[in-house]
Amino acid sequence: MNIIQYLTTIHFGAGAVSSLSETLEELGITRPFVISDHGVKAAGLLDGAAMQVISSAPAFLDVPTNPTESAVQEALVTYRQHGCNGVVAIGGGSPIDLAKGVALLATHEGELEQYAAILGGIPKITNAVAPLVAVPTTAGTGSEVGRAALITLDDGRKLGFISPYLIPRRAICDPELTLGLPPALTAATGLDALSHCIETYLSPRYNPPAEAIALDGFARIWEALPKAYANGADLAARTEVMMGALQGGLTFQKGLGAVHALSHALGGLKELKLHHGTLNAILMPPVLRANASHAATADKISRLEAAAGIAGTTLADALDDLNRKLGVPGKLSTLGVTRDVFAWTCERALADHSHQTNPRNLTGAEYAEILESVM
Ligand SMILES: [Zn+2]
Repeated sequence: MNIIQYLTTIHFGAGAVSSLSETLEELGITRPFVISDHGVKAAGLLDGAAMQVISSAPAFLDVPTNPTESAVQEALVTYRQHGCNGVVAIGGGSPIDLAKGVALLATHEGELEQYAAILGGIPKITNAVAPLVAVPTTAGTGSEVGRAALITLDDGRKLGFISPYLIPRRAICDPELTLGLPPALTAATGLDALSHCIETYLSPRYNPPAEAIALDGFARIWEALPKAYANGADLAARTEVMMGALQGGLTFQKGLGAVHALSHALGGLKELKLHHGTLNAILMPPVLRANASHAATADKISRLEAAAGIAGTTLADALDDLNRKLGVPGKLSTLGVTRDVFAWTCERALADHSHQTNPRNLTGAEYAEILESVM
């Protein structure tokens, strides 16, 4: 296990989860509340010796695929009933995001809505947020070190809650917990992580340390993801992908780009329930092609190509190949997306916070062209 302190303290490596007990002690969490989901429980990930310390703690497992305000409120009732004083989130991005909502409202008065970033909520979130320990069981979202939570309000708006105080106090990243992830989920979550590294790297915000991390994370995932996909039991590959996913999360402060602006919008289509990572995988090649006309970005894309050893082809084309190799559908139409949602999707993408940090200021028409190219 290694201890890394950058934004928060990270316990990283095979077996790192055994530090859960001492972590709770250090943070003064005497009555933990567990947020996880039924899939994680069914996979036996809540049963190991390291989980003994939370085996009798109250838990909330009914986490929706996209965390909702009503789920936050429901979990909060149990949290308060048991007088809990901290949260342990075990799972993918959804349980961790939900846990951020619970840790926030456990200590902050009033409705969730007022804390949303676009409604001026960022300064209202203080260091009183209940301590949160995040234990990811996928290697993808980076939410374990991210300062944002995406939560859908009761009225259907999907809003971002952003604050440095929402960063989990501890991230325990144990690649052994990802050994059982099926190939399709390994690919979709890993490609989400890859898109975080690419988009934060290309974001125009000045932050060279974050760019160095993003470039390194990109190269690691590029190299290791096909291996983890081909052989899920390959611990060395799982470790590399998990590190790359963590690195993608560490660079969120630079902001994402058009891939996420579009995938956030498409992810809001209730009837389709599209996987965030799969959407990003499909959208990366056309967005890179659209961004490449910007000279400074083209230069950065060639640095990404050099880092991954891509020669004789472009990153966008190499990503198309990678998608094929990892069994990711190349078209949005395969997922059930139809052209009649384009106008709504493009409007949402323009309003998304990730749109602002895309290297080029894309227009609604350009967003529509990107969508059309992957139909
Ligand atoms: Zn993402």
